Amino acid sequence: MKDAAMPPQEPSFRESVDLMFTRAVRFMDLPPGLEEKIRVCNATYTVRFGVRLRGAIHTFTGYRSVHSEHLEPVKGGIRYAMAVDQDEVEALAALMTYKCALVEVPFGGSKGGLRIDPRAWDEHELERITRRFTYELAKRDLIHPAQNVPAPDMGTGEREMAWIADAYRRMNTTDINANACVTGKPLSAGGIHGRVEATGRGLQYALREFFRHPEDVERARLAGGLEGKRIVVQGLGNVGYHAAKFLSEEDGALIVGIVERDGAIWSDEGIRVEEAKQWLMRTGSLRDCPGTKFHEEGAAVLEAECDILLPAALEGVVHRDNAARIRAPLIIEGANGPVTAGADEILRDKGTVVIPDMYANAGGVTVSYFEWVKNLSHIRFGRMQRRAEEAEHLLLVRELERLSEDRGLGWTLSPGFKDQYLRGAGELELVRSGLDDTMRTAYQSMREVWHDKPEVGDLRTAAYLVAIGRVAESYRAKGL
Ligand code: NAD
Repeated sequence: MKDAAMPPQEPSFRESVDLMFTRAVRFMDLPPGLEEKIRVCNATYTVRFGVRLRGAIHTFTGYRSVHSEHLEPVKGGIRYAMAVDQDEVEALAALMTYKCALVEVPFGGSKGGLRIDPRAWDEHELERITRRFTYELAKRDLIHPAQNVPAPDMGTGEREMAWIADAYRRMNTTDINANACVTGKPLSAGGIHGRVEATGRGLQYALREFFRHPEDVERARLAGGLEGKRIVVQGLGNVGYHAAKFLSEEDGALIVGIVERDGAIWSDEGIRVEEAKQWLMRTGSLRDCPGTKFHEEGAAVLEAECDILLPAALEGVVHRDNAARIRAPLIIEGANGPVTAGADEILRDKGTVVIPDMYANAGGVTVSYFEWVKNLSHIRFGRMQRRAEEAEHLLLVRELERLSEDRGLGWTLSPGFKDQYLRGAGELELVRSGLDDTMRTAYQSMREVWHDKPEVGDLRTAAYLVAIGRVAESYRAKGL
């Protein structure tokens, strides 16, 4: 998107992040030089490596950028896409620093990428490429449980993370914490319940929290709750699919439009997300998806009338050229950087409320943090306390039943209550609880600034203020 579709005067992704950063620090009083120290990317490593495939040596280019090491390990996904370049990984690494600070996850920011079209290679080939890339990064400690911990991003998932973990372990056979070198692994390879859907789940919790505050909803010229809200989603991958699925199946929202690579589908009654996903996986396209109308011009659907726009594919899709035509009064950024700095200004001027990427898609890194802690503690969350909790609850229920019987009160517990109350929290429940709490707390810290400092004007700037303030505090504490 960024080269072909963006107008020439648009800043690059990294420049966009810098512009947003600069807008925010104007409202802060940082010691001289600290602003620059926080803004700049510490280091970016570029590696070119060859892998013998299909009878020839193919050379691949990969990156790992470390934005800030105020806390270690640094954390950030690895992306497989043809558009990957230094500018992109640096922008994404910077966003990771601010994101971790905002949601109080104790990591610095990093990001990696491999310039590759993952669909052009079969599974066996991708495994060899991934293992080689892992070796190149791990030998420079750019994959390391204590220093740099990657995760999935666009074009990568559990499968790639399992290969990375295994390759790292083979290089570090005596490291008892080797599994913590990467997150987003499958459960069977040291992963955690709820990580696959964590970013989509986080988006759902973010919207729920937004709709708990009527004044905020009003600022977006909306009313009521999530039920019945018409949502357009871009990208039916990990983030877009899970967010759309949960919002439609659990909150009663209507997913009226889904924009994918080759066009978009629309249904006024609401698209059945699971069916659309199955169709996309089976046919490779959303064209002819039952019960929906197909539009060749996908980008135009971003501008359609709806309540909420949820871009969850790639950066720069709302830019100076189309920002004025976006009709959704509320945008929640599932992708990283879907709104350019230029578009942000236009949207702010016309009163569109943007729930920024740094907050909205932080569910992934939050649950990654839980996975890392699980790997280091070598025990599943809930394993020690679940049955003890159940026994305690059982004691209370039995006492209530005894009281009712002894005193002839005729009390009966509502159907299902006993089962639900007696069930102790397992790993999935604990992960969801931790994620929900994180999303609520972070929203509140961001909205406090949004409301208390009218000059700040928007949630993104408020998010930067909170995040930069915390990074600055950590530098101050260190005496840097
Ligand atoms: P993914 O590869 O699983 O899905 C991306 C989807 O976007 C795919 O379905 C793809 O077909 C679609 N797509 C690609 N180009 C498109 C285009 N031009 N128009 C419309 N759709 C297009 O990736 P993902 O993991 O869901 O990541 C998506 C975004 O979310 C990225 O910006 C990523 O950085 C961000 N993000 C991901 C995570 C995570 O945990 N996976 C966490 C935080 C942020």
